[in-house]
Amino acid sequence: CGIFAYLSYFVEKDRRYIADTLLNGLSRLEYRGYDSAGIAIDGDAENEAVIVKQVGKVAALKALVDSSDLDWSKTFNVQTSISHTRWATHGQPSPVNAHPHRSDERNEFTIVHNGIITNYKEIRTLLENKGYAFETETDTEVVVKLLKYVYDSQRGQRITFPDLAKAVTKELEGAFAFLFKSVHYPGEVVAARRGSPLLIGIKTSEDLNVDFVDVEEISNVVAASSINEEKTPAYAKRAQSRSFTRADGSSQPLEYFLASDPSAIIEHTRRVLYLEDDDMAHISRSGDLHIYRLRRDDGLSSIRSIKTL
Ligand code: GLU
Repeated sequence: CGIFAYLSYFVEKDRRYIADTLLNGLSRLEYRGYDSAGIAIDGDAENEAVIVKQVGKVAALKALVDSSDLDWSKTFNVQTSISHTRWATHGQPSPVNAHPHRSDERNEFTIVHNGIITNYKEIRTLLENKGYAFETETDTEVVVKLLKYVYDSQRGQRITFPDLAKAVTKELEGAFAFLFKSVHYPGEVVAARRGSPLLIGIKTSEDLNVDFVDVEEISNVVAASSINEEKTPAYAKRAQSRSFTRADGSSQPLEYFLASDPSAIIEHTRRVLYLEDDDMAHISRSGDLHIYRLRRDDGLSSIRSIKTL
C-alpha cells in the first residue's frame, strides 16, 4: 500500500500532466503490494474535486482515468492532488472501498489513508446517530466524515485546516499516514502520520531557497469542535510548530511530492523532509510548509530539516 501526492504552486500545469504524475508515482509504489488504487484531483471550478478509483493494478486505474470525460487541457496555477494504493484491512477490495474516500457527494473533503483506525466502530456509530450515511465498509471513511462533521460544527468561526485536522486526529486510535484535501481549503493539504511512513519532496526551480524558521505558534483549536467533550484537547492553548517559508516571497514556482517511500520522489527531487510519528504537516495556499505536533507534551523532539537524498 502507498500514498502519493503532487502539489504545485505558481507554475502552470495541465490536468494531463497532473494525472500522469500521480499515476507514475503510484506505479513506483506498486512493489509494496496493493489491491486497488485511486486519485483525487481538482475539478474545473475551485470548489470541486474529482475522484477516480478502481480495483486492480495502477494500469487499470490509468485506463479508467484516460477514458473519463475530464478536460485534459484545463490548466492550474496552484493545485493539490492526492492518490493511493490500498491493501484492504477493513472492507473487501471493491471500487467503493478504494481510496480516496469522500465526506459527501460533493467531495468537500477527500482523504487517503494507510494504516488501521482501531476505534472506527465507535466513531461510526456516533456519526450515524448524527445522521451521517456511510457508503463503504472501511475504517478510513469515519475520518473523512468526521472532518466534515467538525468543519460544519465550526462553520461560523472559520477553523483553519490544520486546526480542523488536529481536532479530528485526536479522536483516532491506531496507525495512520493521512493526506487531507478539501474544496473549503483550495491549494492546501494536511498530512499526518503515526506508525506509517510519510515524507515530503520539495522541488524549486532554482537552488532551494527555503529558510528554516523556528516559530512557536498559538493554536486556536476549539474545544467545542470535539465530538467527545470529555476529551477537551489539552494542547489547545499553545502548540509548537516549525515553518519552512521561502525567503524570496511566495511566487516562485514550487512543487511538493508527498509519498510513503522515497522511490516515488527521487525522479522529481532529492530534497526531502521525513515526517516523524505524530507530526502533522500543513502546506498553505502560498506553498509554505508548517510542521505541527499532534500530541502536546512531546513537543518537537528532534529537528526536522530538509535533507538531500
Ligand atoms: N485500513 C484502510 C482500508 O482498509 C487502509 C488500508 C491501507 O493501508 O491501504 O481501506
